[in-house]
Amino acid sequence: MACARCGGLIVKEPVYDREGSSQVILMDRCLQCGHTEDPVSVRNHAQISQSPHGKAKVRRAPKHPYPPIQLTTKGIE
Ligand SMILES: [Zn+2]
Repeated sequence: MACARCGGLIVKEPVYDREGSSQVILMDRCLQCGHTEDPVSVRNHAQISQSPHGKAKVRRAPKHPYPPIQLTTKGIE
């Protein structure tokens, strides 16, 4: 496997999945230019570009799932 940027040698480098995590994943890193290809972020990026949420307007639910009945109850008490 060669680096996508410089064609250098790609090595598998064990890194922690995220800070504080004990899970180690193997990340592709180029020995020449240091270019890293994180499989997790690559997958996330693909999901984002497929998802309509990225470009669509952020829609907040117009209806509140819980009507403010609790406040009324509190007032009666
Ligand atoms: Zn490279």
